[in-house]
Amino acid sequence: MKQPRASFYTLGCRLNQAETALIAETFRERGYEIAEHGSPVEVAVINTCSVTEHADQRCRQEIRKVKRRSPSAVVCAVGCYAQADTQTVAGILGVDYVVGTDKKYALAQIVSQDVSGSPRPSYARGLKPLVRNSEVRPAPREEMVSSQVAPAIFVSQRPDTGEFDYPMAGYYPHSTRANIKIQDGCDFCCAFCLLPRVRGAAHSRSLEQIVAEGHELVRRGHKELVITGVNIGTYNSGGKTVSDVARAISELPGVQRVRISSIEPSTIGDELLDWMAGSPKACRHLHLPLQSGDDSVLARMKRVYTAGEYARFIERAKTLMPDLGLGTDIIVGFPGESDREFDQTLRFVEQLPLSYLHVFSYSERPKTAAAFYGDKIDPARIKERSERMHEVAARKKQAFFDEHIGRKVEVLFETVDEDGWRKGFTGSYLRVGTTPDACGENKIVRVTVMDTTDDFCLAGEPFDRISIDG
Ligand code: SF4
Repeated sequence: MKQPRASFYTLGCRLNQAETALIAETFRERGYEIAEHGSPVEVAVINTCSVTEHADQRCRQEIRKVKRRSPSAVVCAVGCYAQADTQTVAGILGVDYVVGTDKKYALAQIVSQDVSGSPRPSYARGLKPLVRNSEVRPAPREEMVSSQVAPAIFVSQRPDTGEFDYPMAGYYPHSTRANIKIQDGCDFCCAFCLLPRVRGAAHSRSLEQIVAEGHELVRRGHKELVITGVNIGTYNSGGKTVSDVARAISELPGVQRVRISSIEPSTIGDELLDWMAGSPKACRHLHLPLQSGDDSVLARMKRVYTAGEYARFIERAKTLMPDLGLGTDIIVGFPGESDREFDQTLRFVEQLPLSYLHVFSYSERPKTAAAFYGDKIDPARIKERSERMHEVAARKKQAFFDEHIGRKVEVLFETVDEDGWRKGFTGSYLRVGTTPDACGENKIVRVTVMDTTDDFCLAGEPFDRISIDG
């Protein structure tokens, strides 16, 4: 029998990428060939995101696109948007399965019967569709054609937040970097965020399982492991913390680099900073979401720090690690954000030693606290603030690039990209590119930064190249 093929497409954050890799592995274990997204397949999985209205829209577009490209594929919409707005997702023409955040690792089990020609299961072993098909009315914007079977829905009303049980390692088509999911859910209540609703309360994976996945990823050739989750600073499994996880992973034989992904500033303790400053494997990079530089906006957002506390933390981290790369997220146009408060954020961000910024225009998420706030900001004003903040972001990025000119940096190079460059990242998350033949994929190479472009630094030729890794 021909080997069935499955393709995967991820929207959203690094955690979603880690989860797609875990889902892909469950398909591989069932004998599927993992095919490129967009190629003809038997199963097409879209791992969705719902962080903004724009993300929702992109999910809908991708689902329709994949059905057009692969009309006979079983199309599965899984993850955050499927969980947050099941009814709308179920109403998209061509969707066969809608699977929520805590059921997605059972997807391969669920769809396998379809692909093997058996009738579609109303539920798979051990899993009950908590929302039954008959209870879901597709949203009115798209009509079901009479020949289309209603999608099967596996969405819990409340995501299960029990212990993790993923005894597998994520599948990544390229070696180089791999993500390790250590934690899910969040107990914080930021006013703009719908994640606690779609992913439930904070829960942590056991250190044993994390280490086992790390071992396997290294065996498969990954050099850099990235610790990821919704709120990783709150990791707690049997008293172990995120710094215990970082230490344990960095001690695995064969690991070259360990990176901490986005982490809430209020959750970083001295232990983690000491590990970062002291371990030769630790990437000197932190992504610390700030969201606003104005204390009253931060309070309305229900963030648990002030701008001053954030600045003092950064100062301490930079004193310990002067070469630290620092990124942040900023939301512009939060309800009630006055011109004065926005200007304050702009000034605050300007004076921080940031290397990059992700700027988000505020997007109302259903059933969040901020959705009920008055004084919504006019979209034209949000756009104007976003443009001003993007200008600051571009200047910060350029300054970070420029300060590396003439310096030697160690880069983990990846595959050649669409533009013909071989690019990679330093531990501090500086993107560096070179010609494809200058060095191989998945090699850590010491190069000299010669110049910069808008998007990355150039390791010019001839460059000082010392392979420190094979
Ligand atoms: S810390 Fe705040 S923004 Fe981050 S996931 Fe939790 S509620 Fe959302």
